[in-house]
Amino acid sequence: MPVDYDVIISGAGPAGSFAAYSLAKQNRKVLLIDKEKFPRYKVCGGGLTHKVAQFLPFDISEVIERQIYNVVFSHQLDYQFKKRSKEPFIFCVSRDKFDAFLVRKAREAGAEFLEEQAVEGVEEKEHEVIVKTAAKAFTSHYMIGADGAMGITASSVGLMKNVLNCVAIESEMEVDPSFLEESGRTIYLDWGTMPVGYAWMFPKGDHISIGVGTSYRLSRHLRKYYRRFIIYLPVKEVRTISYKAYSIPIRQRGSKIVTKRVALAGDAAGLSDPLTGEGIYYALASGSMAAEAIDKLLKGEIQSLEYYEKRVNLEIFQDLLAVYPLMHFFNAMPGYFHNLMDTNERYFRAFIRILRGEKKYDSFRKRFGPFQFLWKAAWKFARYKENIKIQNFRFERKIGNSASNEQ
Ligand SMILES: Cc1cc2nc3c(=O)[nH]c(=O)nc-3n(C[C@H](O)[C@H](O)[C@H](O)COP(=O)(O)OP(=O)(O)OC[C@H]3O[C@@H](n4cnc5c(N)ncnc54)[C@H](O)[C@@H]3O)c2cc1C
Repeated sequence: MPVDYDVIISGAGPAGSFAAYSLAKQNRKVLLIDKEKFPRYKVCGGGLTHKVAQFLPFDISEVIERQIYNVVFSHQLDYQFKKRSKEPFIFCVSRDKFDAFLVRKAREAGAEFLEEQAVEGVEEKEHEVIVKTAAKAFTSHYMIGADGAMGITASSVGLMKNVLNCVAIESEMEVDPSFLEESGRTIYLDWGTMPVGYAWMFPKGDHISIGVGTSYRLSRHLRKYYRRFIIYLPVKEVRTISYKAYSIPIRQRGSKIVTKRVALAGDAAGLSDPLTGEGIYYALASGSMAAEAIDKLLKGEIQSLEYYEKRVNLEIFQDLLAVYPLMHFFNAMPGYFHNLMDTNERYFRAFIRILRGEKKYDSFRKRFGPFQFLWKAAWKFARYKENIKIQNFRFERKIGNSASNEQ
């Protein structure tokens, strides 16, 4: 049976666009579908870690609005210090522009793009996939579900049954231009205020992005944390451009991301860092791996999409799983790590090297060598302490300098 396309991709975020680009570069007939009209806003801090720029095969400088060299850290909206790096470690983009740029790259490579058309259902048959939109149904040999945290593909084909959701609020704000002149190379990070999660401020070209994120269990406290963080920041708001909450899905062990003809990538596959919420790099990397696997299948070089799932497990998921012990240590004793970051340059260097993709999370575990039982016992104890903190958490009347000013 002839089909309309080799591959149909649902969702034109970083995972979908880059998968479309990669497949089109292999001369595959690709249709990329998104429910929004581009450029479109996406709830996101827009912080690209340095490894994104290293990973992409084309120059992204036209969409980078700020290069970050400095961090102002605070603990419980107090005990603030500034650290400087010689090299940039984060590039700030506006997601509407960055994502539209990636779609343009996919189209230039030869992918077809259908916007303002939501995928409403996916049906997997023996020899094809049927992708339904309100206007039309399309067929293809394979499909990539890259439709994000709320996408329809995973549930349509019975994938991703085990996901943990984190929640974040992000707002974009016009501020006094003098703040951007002074702090255009600096991000603000606050931690230890809630038992899980942190707050951030990223400068953009002509505005800032402010956000707070935490686990689903603590989500009812997020608005309060957000308000306190805004009061704490040394910045005068001129106008709020947007304010939204969104989910960050975290894949759990054993959650399938492929069927015979459908592969999930990016947020649809829950590939985000459970500690930082970083997802753009993993979206691009998984989109590229899905594209490569499907190209190999079409060439007859491999037999099944399991190849893709195995690669994701080995090259992405294993390192994301290695985050958990560190996250439990950090959440159990944020003040201790904050202090170390301030007083011991090695810890700040390790932080920068992770963001730059020069160091893997798993390297901390490996240092324990034959004494893995000690590492395991320590992080299990930290997890226990973290749980107690979560159960007993309520906002103190006064946290940091800001609470006393709160309206
Ligand atoms: C508040 C917040 C802040 C974040 N900050 C950062 C950060 O600073 N750095 C970082 O690396 N990561 C960050 N992340 C994570 C990052 O935003 C995601 O991991 C990343 O966007 C995932 O890319 P994706 O392509 O998988 O999905 P998305 O970017 O979510 O793209 C999915 C696309 O699918 C489309 N779609 C959805 N449903 C359908 C449908 N039915 N039919 C057709 N199209 C559909 C959507 O319109 C969208 O364009 C943040 C997340 C949140 C919530």
